[in-house]
Amino acid sequence: MSSVLVKNGRLIRKHTVEPADLLVDSGRIAAIGKNLTAGQATLIDAQGMYVAPGFIDIHIHGAGGSDFMDGGAESVKTILDTVLPHGTTSLLPTLMSEPLSRMRQAIEAIADSEDPRILGIYIEGPFFSEEKKGAQPAAHLLAPDVDSFQALIDGFTEKIKVVSLAPELPGGLDLVGVIVRSGMIAALGHSNASFSQAMAAIDAGVSQFTHFYNGMSSLHHRNPGAVGAGLLATTTTLELIADGIHVHPRAIELMVKTRGIDYICLITDAVRATGMPDGKYTLAGQEIFVQDGIARLVDGESLAGSTLTMEKAVRNMVQFGFPLHDVVRAATFVPACRLGVDTTKGSIAVGKDADLVVLNEDMGVEYVLIGGELRYEGG
Ligand SMILES: [Zn+2]
Repeated sequence: MSSVLVKNGRLIRKHTVEPADLLVDSGRIAAIGKNLTAGQATLIDAQGMYVAPGFIDIHIHGAGGSDFMDGGAESVKTILDTVLPHGTTSLLPTLMSEPLSRMRQAIEAIADSEDPRILGIYIEGPFFSEEKKGAQPAAHLLAPDVDSFQALIDGFTEKIKVVSLAPELPGGLDLVGVIVRSGMIAALGHSNASFSQAMAAIDAGVSQFTHFYNGMSSLHHRNPGAVGAGLLATTTTLELIADGIHVHPRAIELMVKTRGIDYICLITDAVRATGMPDGKYTLAGQEIFVQDGIARLVDGESLAGSTLTMEKAVRNMVQFGFPLHDVVRAATFVPACRLGVDTTKGSIAVGKDADLVVLNEDMGVEYVLIGGELRYEGG
């Protein structure tokens, strides 16, 4: 395996940004320090640039014209390769509510891929509330049902990392129990839960909120809803689409002030239109229309995922006023901890996997390394 020396960069560590060189060898970070010498290593001069851990996107549906629900090896590869130049070095392919047979096909196709960038699968649906369906097709929503869930994931329990559901529906809490006992994260999503129903779901094991604020009962002072529960419960992680459209920057500030950045996980929720021109696309069998990069259902006002990429999410958060090292933690270390891979991924330290993104001053991606291999070099 090749070795790479990244010279003169500013390393974005968990709690600091510090100038240092970084040596990569045999796929791992081998040394961090001043005046490291290259020897046989490939040299990257990162003068004036930042070096961050590779971004981990735990909620992404598609990109580059493909969707993980397409259910083929080619789609999986297209999506991974489209988001690579945006600094995403690991991700969770995310399914939507479609007939269970199609969801099963998608799970099989993703599980077939040996690509190490895939850290597991996120199942978003179909046990959702119609009132908060957003872009989840109503025709394919089901009441929570343990037997159909077990049939859906049969043989793939180890691969499934997150399951999002509306826990207030009849049978919801039983399903939360099954999900948690199977070693997966139960997430509240597309849910019309009252505050007390959301708190009961957290007691039953829900530990994550799917794209927080979006697709859930909002905060009213006489009924604080799922949003109120997410802001108050100290154990849950809140996913955030930081595109400036899904959530107002000051509503993000409210999340950060109440919960702290270590419980906020930047996601893209990107759909197949990501990295593609504006126009018509499909999402879970429905037509969507993308204008100025904003994806909406054709026959409604509902947002239909995003065309966000991880480096843009980081840039937006910095522009909203949050410190760079905090923002990067929400795109790297927080998701790594969620998935239990923080001993190898999600931060810059000697011995960790050399999944790295070199960013310029404007948060544009200049280089991407995955497992110590230089996989992208910008112009
Ligand atoms: Zn989604």
